[in-house]
Amino acid sequence: MLRIKNLYVSIDGKEILKDFNININKGEVHALMGPNGTGKSTLSKVILNNKKYKKEKGNIYFEGEDITNLSTDKIAKKGIFLSNQLPCEIDGVTTADFLRTALNEKEENVSLYSFIKKINSAVSDLNMDEKMIHRSINKGFSGGEKKKNEILQMKVLEPKFIILDEIDSGLDVDSLKIVGENVTNYLKEHKDTSVLIITHYPRILEYIKPDFVHVMTGGQIKKTGNYDLALEIEKKGYDTYKNNSASIVSE
Ligand code: ADP
Ligand code: MG
Repeated sequence: MLRIKNLYVSIDGKEILKDFNININKGEVHALMGPNGTGKSTLSKVILNNKKYKKEKGNIYFEGEDITNLSTDKIAKKGIFLSNQLPCEIDGVTTADFLRTALNEKEENVSLYSFIKKINSAVSDLNMDEKMIHRSINKGFSGGEKKKNEILQMKVLEPKFIILDEIDSGLDVDSLKIVGENVTNYLKEHKDTSVLIITHYPRILEYIKPDFVHVMTGGQIKKTGNYDLALEIEKKGYDTYKNNSASIVSE
């Protein structure tokens, strides 16, 4: 579903991603772990073609199509969704208005009734205050509320490919459980959906079970394994993987 080949990315002349490769098939959950500043968030933004980052080399394919240079808007319409590590505040646009507009762009003729039903059920699943969807997006929200608001958007927009960048940071134990269970339940109902989840902690992976866990250091994946690798990282830290040579992406 998503394939990244030999990707090199820089910002202000500084090389961040160096020969980054990954291949994510339909319905797979991939966890990406790595030390601070290694380029995980950069990768998530580059997939959506954030223009701040310069792609020096390499390609990104989605469902077989080269989307490397497609506009962010078109990439989002293809069904790639990013929950940002630091969700931005958008003054003057409510979450409800944003989602209604976005949904109408995606599917024609979404009735107001079915939209309200959908958003209200997501609000209730996430145990959110229903007033929040009528406030400016993320304005004055706590860290945890912003993360829930991202998952709310995911549930309403029903993307095919989900990138969750540190969705677990800033969540209290109850909210972590709610967010984890909401993503898991979503995946049960959307079996073809794939996930790239960036995290530092195995806790969220107890809910969102990964098929693969990757260790990223120095701007590339150094080791790939299963859930046990996440536990190994928690015990040993990242230093052991620093000198590994880059793993080869299976064809
Ligand atoms: P991670 O998410 O793995 O912690 P990031 O992708 O956020 O790492 O950052 C990787 C490196 O790129 C860091 O050294 C960071 O300071 C730098 N970087 C990322 N975005 C920018 C930016 N917009 N301007 C300047 N430097 C950036
Ligand atoms: Mg990050």
